[in-house]
Amino acid sequence: MITMKFGGTSVGTPESIRQACQLIKAELAHKPVVIVSAHNSPSVRMTDTLVAAAHAAKDGKPDASKVIEAQHWICRELGIDPSSNGIDRLLERFDKLLSGIAMIGELTPRTMDVVMSFGERMSARVVNDVLRREFGVKSEYRSAITLGLKTDHNFGAARPDPRCYPAVAKQISDLDCDVLVTTGFIASTDDGQITTLGRGGSDYSATIFGAIVGAEEVQIWTDVSGVMTADPRIVPEAESIPELTFMEASELAWYGAKVLHPATMTPAIENDIPVRVKNTARPDHPGTVIRRTVKQDSEAGAVKSLAVMKNVALVTISTGRMFGTHGFMSRVFDVFNRHGVDIHMIATSEVTISVTTPNAEAAERAAEAIRDFASVTVEKGLALISVVGERMKGMPGVAARVTKALAEAQVSIRMISQGASEINIAMILEGDQARDAVISLHKELFDNLAAS
Ligand code: ADP
Ligand code: ASP
Ligand code: MG
Repeated sequence: MITMKFGGTSVGTPESIRQACQLIKAELAHKPVVIVSAHNSPSVRMTDTLVAAAHAAKDGKPDASKVIEAQHWICRELGIDPSSNGIDRLLERFDKLLSGIAMIGELTPRTMDVVMSFGERMSARVVNDVLRREFGVKSEYRSAITLGLKTDHNFGAARPDPRCYPAVAKQISDLDCDVLVTTGFIASTDDGQITTLGRGGSDYSATIFGAIVGAEEVQIWTDVSGVMTADPRIVPEAESIPELTFMEASELAWYGAKVLHPATMTPAIENDIPVRVKNTARPDHPGTVIRRTVKQDSEAGAVKSLAVMKNVALVTISTGRMFGTHGFMSRVFDVFNRHGVDIHMIATSEVTISVTTPNAEAAERAAEAIRDFASVTVEKGLALISVVGERMKGMPGVAARVTKALAEAQVSIRMISQGASEINIAMILEGDQARDAVISLHKELFDNLAAS
């Protein structure tokens, strides 16, 4: 078996939906489980539209018309009747939900997850209908909720509960079909409340379902030809990377490469399932394959890719009494933990600890608590740039090239760290210098190093 995940851009228009169905049909021999995101194209940005409608409802203006029009347009163009496949029922429920939000004037993370779930629940039905009617494929639709995929109660960034996996696997194997079409991004708690895995979470669903069915491969179909040497929107010359290790892909995902949701690699690593990232519009391109180990003699250089994360906060804690004060570090990290601050980088000196996090608001709250026993500052709007590659290990020249490239771009480094595993050199810079930094780093590391 395989899982095939189609991102929002791969099901964003009637044409791309047909193209996705073509690709699914070509894989029938591998019994695909298909995971679908909400439609996302310049004509239909479904998840964003749902979110905007919910905010407007909270402000007293409930209006489902944009969502209804967009979904009806997709259905109409594909010759699908939204009243026959449950889509109109969902749209009615969405309309009522908006009225409820307007009445209460409140939008909790729990309600927002229900709001966002409609996108995937509609688009997966569309893909299933097109597969059956136009492509003659014996497919079935079941949402991840119906299949029994369970998570914790962390609305907006829920994590799956692997104890449900055997029951979900049984549900899937009991189905009498050639293709199962299901929803990415969503699941539910054990008491039946809808949850989401965080924006971009369908990638994570793809590997979760891969783990559940024991897939031989997870395919992530998107709008670029694999994982590239940098975000092609920043560096147009960026190239597709033929192979990455699990660790390299995991670092890139956690450190901001949007092509993979941060947690995507975890189920793949735990179950040793290769992940292939491919371009729906250019299926002949080999894309990127991500596995436990890759050939060392690959043509790529030691540096595989650059990732950028924006809106990073830097928390600096200082105290004259840190050294020799038993338990100071654990006290600080206990506060971070209690306030849900995810920490990316840490640097310490005798009198200061600096940490970086993408959760600026949580960092502010933690800083308040730390002020009870140390002085602390929080700077926001910084950028974290990571240079990733397992073969950088023991190659001292890379760090020198990185600092040279940044100096040439007149970018100053606020903080730099290279983990003991040496798979990643991470730097913190001013947010407005991130673009110049990435362009200069890409030029230095990929125009020069790859050839050396
Ligand atoms: P999907 O709708 O398929 O989930 P996303 O928009 O979430 O697609 O992710 C694909 C986008 O990720 C690409 O269009 C690209 O702009 C961006 N991206 C960022 N970093 C990288 C990278 N290193 N390689 C490829 N794409 C990247
Ligand atoms: N539709 C969701 C989002 O826009 C999930 C995804 O696309 O992966 O974030
Ligand atoms: Mg995505």
